[in-house]
Amino acid sequence: MDDIAFVALGSNLGDRRKHLSDALARIGRIPGVAIVAVTSPEETEPIGPVAQGPYLNQMVALRTSLSPPELLATLHEVEREGGRVRTVRWGPRTIDLDIVKYAHTTWSSAELQVPHREIDNRDFWQRELAELAEVSI
Ligand code: ATP
Ligand code: CA
Ligand code: CA
Repeated sequence: MDDIAFVALGSNLGDRRKHLSDALARIGRIPGVAIVAVTSPEETEPIGPVAQGPYLNQMVALRTSLSPPELLATLHEVEREGGRVRTVRWGPRTIDLDIVKYAHTTWSSAELQVPHREIDNRDFWQRELAELAEVSI
């Protein structure tokens, strides 16, 4: 059954706007995924202990037939295509893609929690979810 997934995009290295738009284009080409709505990009301060530049964030609502782990696997591919190199956790990156939640599905394993465990602590995600709420039904 199709569900709606909310995916957060973040970039704080290089041409941040281009990294977001390239990732959106790639997400739109994933089989079993259709983009329903996108927020406008918003700048936020970095989270965590690593000193780094501000992030540009955006959130996308997807209609998808993929389960959370299937979607995460394709999002990791998009991160790799976007030039992301995994160094330190919470460190600077060209593109970070997180599954914030699904409208009607939850998931809990060692590698993946949906809703994302930080959903209640990130005000910008709450603002972006509110912006997308009208399409989430
Ligand atoms: P944060 O998750 O706090 O925003 P981060 O995005 O910097 O931190 P990453 O290094 O990108 O963290 O991801 C670490 C791991 O988090 C991923 O390899 C993935 O297995 C796991 N993970 C768990 N739940 C989720 C989720 N809902 N969306 C994306 N990754 C998740
Ligand atoms: Ca993240
Ligand atoms: Ca991540």
